[in-house]
Amino acid sequence: MISVEQALEKILSYIATLEEEQVPILDSLGQVLAEDVKSGINVPPLDNTAMDGYAVQSGDTLGASRESPRLLRVIDTVIAGSMPEHEVTPGTAIRIMTGAPVPEGADSVVKFEDTDEEQRRKASAGQPVTEIGILCQANPGLNIRRAGEDISQGATVLKKGTVIRPSEVGVLASLGQSEVRVIRRPVIAILATGNELVEINQPRPTGKIYNSNTYSVAASVRRCGGIPQILGIAQDREDSLVAGLRRGLDADMLITIGGVSKGDYDMVKDVLAREGQINFWTVRIKPGKPLAFGTIKGTDKNGVTRSIPHLGLPGNPVSAMVTFEIFARPAILKMLGKKNLSKPTVAAVLENSIVNTDGRRIHDRVIVEKRNGQYFARLTGKQGSGILSSMSRANGLAVVPEDRAEVKAGEVVQVIMLDWNEEASG
Ligand code: AMP
Ligand code: MG
Repeated sequence: MISVEQALEKILSYIATLEEEQVPILDSLGQVLAEDVKSGINVPPLDNTAMDGYAVQSGDTLGASRESPRLLRVIDTVIAGSMPEHEVTPGTAIRIMTGAPVPEGADSVVKFEDTDEEQRRKASAGQPVTEIGILCQANPGLNIRRAGEDISQGATVLKKGTVIRPSEVGVLASLGQSEVRVIRRPVIAILATGNELVEINQPRPTGKIYNSNTYSVAASVRRCGGIPQILGIAQDREDSLVAGLRRGLDADMLITIGGVSKGDYDMVKDVLAREGQINFWTVRIKPGKPLAFGTIKGTDKNGVTRSIPHLGLPGNPVSAMVTFEIFARPAILKMLGKKNLSKPTVAAVLENSIVNTDGRRIHDRVIVEKRNGQYFARLTGKQGSGILSSMSRANGLAVVPEDRAEVKAGEVVQVIMLDWNEEASG
């Protein structure tokens, strides 16, 4: 049986970063930039005002104060989106609104609160004022945002390899870019197996269970940036399984769920060997030991012969989700062009003890909480790999190394964080 690291290394050796695509900027969220983005423009394009106020020559305001205002003649108003039509000359001011270009001649903007505009407006019954008292000394540059102070023309704004977040989407929009080149999202085909399964929108005959794994895995694919392609349920028969596998050949990776535990695997193994190549089966991990990996070969819908990576996740609902996190997620992230393939971990004080009976690496479901600056992790309860609801209660997986026979309550363990309370608690 191979280790978790060996298994992951083997899987990743079959995974390549995908090609580039051009997508609308909003669709690129979470994808990796495939080229440097250079700015063709200055942002902001012109010197403009950061405040509503009066554009003035700072020299006209020397020594101005509330007690000793400087009177200036108001010659125009300029609003955001319009160009000033007049120049500010000595003794004059132009009323200006936030974002509007600073007129020629002005070198500073005095905000409304530092003028006597309010009194004058009251006195003039709302009529535009023709004179304004400046109540403070303005230094050159006051309240002026310089052209290009955010992004200067010709600068490399975003580097190839950057993961697109809302702020990158905003930066692209500020350059007037509606599309962006990124690494495309992988399509991950998902095939459930088992005679006992019924689709979730079907009546459930006695003795059958709903197919939950397809949906937990598809949601996990989507969460890490892939596109799930749901292939439905294959029966535990060779012809049904083969037909299912072949339907997944247009995808970038095929995930099957179930059929890989000891008894079942005999049939599946033969099919997988015939349809492709088996690389490994069983990993020193708990839950999820009967994990299978290999490649599936065949012709896609265009008649092209392809070989795609195949990950056979165990069918127990918790095993399927845990092995997805440990093995499928890194593969998907690598296809997306990401460099950091692992989930964040925290060191946490374990509040229960965990016994490790057979030298596998354990990933137990825990609830991680931060108290007084320290992380604590307590088990969600019974750790049976069929108890999916306890996965729903957990926000982390506590890791017990292969070589530890027991971790006692009070000891510190590494916990792989699946979610953060601050984000998930609604
Ligand atoms: P298997 O790996 O096929 O032996 O399945 C192990 C256990 O997981 C069995 O109890 C199955 O009924 C259950 N199981 C397998 N596939 C699914 C699925 N898609 N949804 C829910 N339970 C499943
Ligand atoms: Mg089965």
